[in-house]
Amino acid sequence: MSRIQFDSVTKRYEADILAVDNFNLDIHDGEFLTLVGPSGSGKSTLLRMLAGLEEITEGEIRIGDTPVNRLPPRKRDIAMVFQNYALYPHLSVRDNMAFGLKRSTDLPAEEINERVREAAELMGIEELLDQKPKHLSGGQRQRVATGRAIVRDPAVFLFDEPLSNLDAKLRKHMRTELQRLQQTFETTTIYVTHDQEEAMTMSDRIAILDTGTLQQVGSPREVYNRP
Ligand code: ADP
Ligand code: ADP
Repeated sequence: MSRIQFDSVTKRYEADILAVDNFNLDIHDGEFLTLVGPSGSGKSTLLRMLAGLEEITEGEIRIGDTPVNRLPPRKRDIAMVFQNYALYPHLSVRDNMAFGLKRSTDLPAEEINERVREAAELMGIEELLDQKPKHLSGGQRQRVATGRAIVRDPAVFLFDEPLSNLDAKLRKHMRTELQRLQQTFETTTIYVTHDQEEAMTMSDRIAILDTGTLQQVGSPREVYNRP
């Protein structure tokens, strides 16, 4: 069953910037799909249209059978992790993690607290819950950003180069952590990266994008021609 369908999707910023050009792709339920391609090839734009942060110029994106245009962003059941983490600087880690749940559900405070505690435990950040983001290291911020996505228990995770601001050692460590999460939750995931090693080790399939056009899609083995 497919969870997300991009159907002839085109995105123009202003008249002359063609960011995504007639993009077609079905992403299966529970699949981990990695988008790779040079800077400016349209990867972020694809995620942002799916999440409702950008309008679609032409074509349609569907979640399940529903065109995303019919779903306000908060109803899309998607959690996105950004390269710069996008944490609210004035809120504690706890409140950063609870923010999306408070806004998009009417769960009682106790339930929200419990879910934040569980996600914090999963990410190993229980001791940081009362801290503000500015007191955290890059790796800790990354964990908070991922914890904030997990806490919502979404149908879809979107990761936009989540590890690219970390040093090589931490990047490798977090890659293993994210793989562990994927094995735990089997949530449908679209993951954007520049790192071939990440793409190779984490993905069910890899889609290669260039100047807004899908060049190739297949298993890591098919795409990189390696055993
Ligand atoms: P990637 O994520 O692969 O680096 P993007 O989706 O960010 O690519 O960008 C695709 C193209 O769209 C690039 O040419 C970029 O300059 C352009 N673009 C992205 N966002 C905007 C915007 N808000 N306004 C105008 N052009 C944009
Ligand atoms: P998410 O749904 O990914 O958990 P939120 O719902 O909290 O994120 O945030 C919604 C929007 O607000 C996103 O576009 C995100 O980039 C933006 N955002 C989040 N944190 C900040 C921040 N500290 N400053 C500016 N924008 C932010």
